[in-house]
Amino acid sequence: MNKKLAAAIQRDNELEDAGMHADDRKTCWTHESWAEDCESDPAHINPSALHYPRPA
Ligand SMILES: [Zn+2]
Repeated sequence: MNKKLAAAIQRDNELEDAGMHADDRKTCWTHESWAEDCESDPAHINPSALHYPRPA
């Protein structure tokens, strides 16, 4: 993982903790990647799953 991505994930985590909806993340916690790079992953297509679940 490059530093820019790591920083973006950290920022998204903080924004989400502050109330941002998970769908508005630019990064994916599950895959540790940019959201656009894994948006076709079955984990994100399955409607029963949260888009970018994070452990509590
Ligand atoms: Zn993902």
